[in-house]
Order: sequence, then C-alpha cells, then structure tokens
Amino acid sequence: MTSATPKDAAATVPAVCILTLGCPKNEVDSDRMAASLAPSFSLVDDLADADVAVVNTCSFIREATEESIGVVLDLTGSWKTERPGRIVVVAGCMPARYGDELAGAMPEVDAFVPVADEENLARVIVGLTGAALVVTTTPPRTTPGPSAYLQVSDGCHRRCTFCAIPDIRGDYRSRPLAELVVEAEFLVAGGARELVLVGQDVSAWGHDLPGAPVLAELVQALARVQDLTWIRLMYVQPDGITPELLEVMSEASNVVHYLDMPLQHASRDVLRRMGRRGDGAEFLRLIHVIRSYMPGIALRTTLISGFPGETRDDARRVQGFLRDADFDYVGVFPYSPEEGTPAAAMPDQVPARTRRARAQRLRDIADELGTARVARLAGATLEVLVEGLDDEGTPVGRHRGQAPEVDGVVALDRESPAGTMARVEIVDTLGYDLIGEVRS
Ligand code: SF4
Repeated sequence: MTSATPKDAAATVPAVCILTLGCPKNEVDSDRMAASLAPSFSLVDDLADADVAVVNTCSFIREATEESIGVVLDLTGSWKTERPGRIVVVAGCMPARYGDELAGAMPEVDAFVPVADEENLARVIVGLTGAALVVTTTPPRTTPGPSAYLQVSDGCHRRCTFCAIPDIRGDYRSRPLAELVVEAEFLVAGGARELVLVGQDVSAWGHDLPGAPVLAELVQALARVQDLTWIRLMYVQPDGITPELLEVMSEASNVVHYLDMPLQHASRDVLRRMGRRGDGAEFLRLIHVIRSYMPGIALRTTLISGFPGETRDDARRVQGFLRDADFDYVGVFPYSPEEGTPAAAMPDQVPARTRRARAQRLRDIADELGTARVARLAGATLEVLVEGLDDEGTPVGRHRGQAPEVDGVVALDRESPAGTMARVEIVDTLGYDLIGEVRS
C-alpha cells in the first residue's frame, strides 16, 4: 500500500455515502467506486452520517434521468444545507450524457464525474475535502453477501435505435480474461459464492481482445475457480448464444442453468427498426435448442412495447410469441423516446397511453405463465444459496433459477449462515416467491 498526502490533509477522515440509481450494472460501478474510495474515506450507508454524497446516476431512459435529477436536487436542497461543508458529487451516466449542460443547471453540485472519469473519483473528492489520498493495489470487496457482480465489459458496439447507452458509455471494451479470473478469485476469497456476469452485452465478450476469445472460454476459465458455487450469465444477446456456449453451460457443474437474453420484440419489422436481428420464429427455435441442451433452464427476457410504428398486429405477434416461448421471467418496458436516439425521430410514434396499455397486456401474460411455472415447483426439493435476512427479518435464499434482485426469493423456515447451501423442500409459492422448509 502506498500513501500520498496532499496539502491541507484533514485531521479526520471524511465520511462518504454512495447512492446508486438504476440497474445492476450501476451497482457494479458503485462497488468499484467504493473500492477506490475505501482506503481514503470512511464509507457510510446512512446519508445522515455523511460529509460527502456521491450519486451514481442513471440516464438510460427519461424516467431514470428524472429520478436522478430529483435525488440530486433533494441533496443540494435540504441535505446539503442541513450541515455546512457538505459536498455533493454527481457521477455515472447523467453527467456522461448531459455534460456541461448539467453544471449550468445545477450550480450547487460540487463536482460532476462522468463514467469515463470514474477512476479519478477519489482524487476529485480529495480535492474537495483536503483528505489524504491513499492508493491500494488490491481493492477491498465492498458488497456484502454471497453474491457478487462481475462486469466483463463496458460500453456497447451495437446501435439499437432506441438506446443511448453507446453514447453514454462509449464503444465495447472487454476486460481481459486473466484480469477477470483474478477478480473472480478475489471475490470468492472475500466470501462470494455466486458470480453474476454482467455487461451491456455479455455475449460479445472477447471480440475486441487479441486473438478474439469467446464467452464460452471465459465461462470455462471461471468455472475452474475454486469454491465458486454458481456462475450466472445475464444480458446475453440471442445472436451470441452459440452451441459452444451451451455446451460449456450444460457441462460445467457450477454454471447455473439460467439465461437472461434481452429480445426486445418478436415482430421482424419492429426488430429491424430497432436495429436488431432475428424475429419471433428464430427466437423460438433458439429457445428450443437451449432447452434441448438444458431441460428445465430458467429463461428471462426483456421486451419493449409501443416502439415507433408498432401496429396492432405487431403487438399481437409479441403476445403470441410470449405464450409460445413460456419464459420464467419477463421485464416489460413501454418504449421511452430518448433524446438524440434515431428512434426518437422516427415517424408513427405510438401514443404513451397505448404503449403503457400494451406493456400491461404483456406483463399480464408473462405473470400468468411465469407464476404458473413457479407454482409447479411446489413439492420439489431444491438447492438454495442462503442470503440472510430480508427487510422484514425473514430468512431468504435463492435457487439456481432465481437471479439476485430481479426474480424473487425462497423464504426459509429457519436461519442458516449466509453463503451456505441448504436443501429446501418447497411447500408453497406466492407469485414469483417460493416458501420452503430447510431439510439439511
Ligand atoms: S445491445 Fe442495444 S440496447 Fe443493449 S446497450 Fe447495446 S445498443 Fe443498447
């Protein structure tokens, strides 16, 4: 560990609270921020105890930007004025997307740190507080609990016409295999039992690295990490699901039979306008192949309703597709026109009310099928990763078919140490949640 002390180092270490908005990928970024700040600052969970608030913002869709602005205004209003000297730093997607415009609109914010500058976050806060900068070569693990996200890449090389992410986060950059394996070992040594692979497009991992390794190779290498119980793949685009990947997934005992593949729509016309490949029939064939490799695999997707030009027929097509595909979990989002994206300037925008109504119809179908799939697990005995207590004090865990934060949990009748595996008999179900009794 090396230590550099700038001028006017403060006698006490400033307390920093990081607020994370948006998706699991932002959680990963917040973890990295926390790891870089931990040596120099005291990290606190409660804003009331903090001298510095860092808001890791999300600007993926307009609602997310509005939420981010609301949180920042709350901080610069009441929180900052409650105690003189408090500092507000806005990081993440919002400053990346809106740059200087924000500085003019929010003069009470002390610093803006866009995604590309995040490695300098500690230096920025040191500059604002006069604290001593401490640099370590091994970042501490900051997320407690038995599950950790492993971000395999940043940015995106695709250009879906509705999406602002490539503008915000830049082109696709894979992290090298060796670096990811070392981080995986480090996370496991710190108590993680499950690693969730995330990125804007996990399936494209490796294409920009020397020798162009593929995701199957990365998964194989991670599967060899000692004491890593589960590996889970999220954000795998359908065209990146290869026989090679499915083979590795079906053969490695610690790769869970779970896939999150964002499909966005099933109508060929709509998908082309989205700048995406495939159609409902192709996706159904792919799902059939996936299930032939791994019968019982849990499948998650995301869909967008009311994209510009979506006709009633298109809407019906995606409803029929949803019934045929019979997913375990589906995230449905009404289309949101994003400033600067090609889709926002397309003709035939669908009225917001129709977008919402079509989204609700899709959610109803997804819930009917998804909860029926969950109900069929009653009576089964499943291996469950114990996570600890939920907000109400109930012991909870997850089985292989449930990703953290998005898919529901298994409520347990008694406590077991977090991070252990329990054999659990499912005695009842409630929506997407399961109720189980620990057998061993
Ligand atoms: S794959 Fe498409 S939707 Fe996903 S981040 Fe890239 S451009 Fe956006």
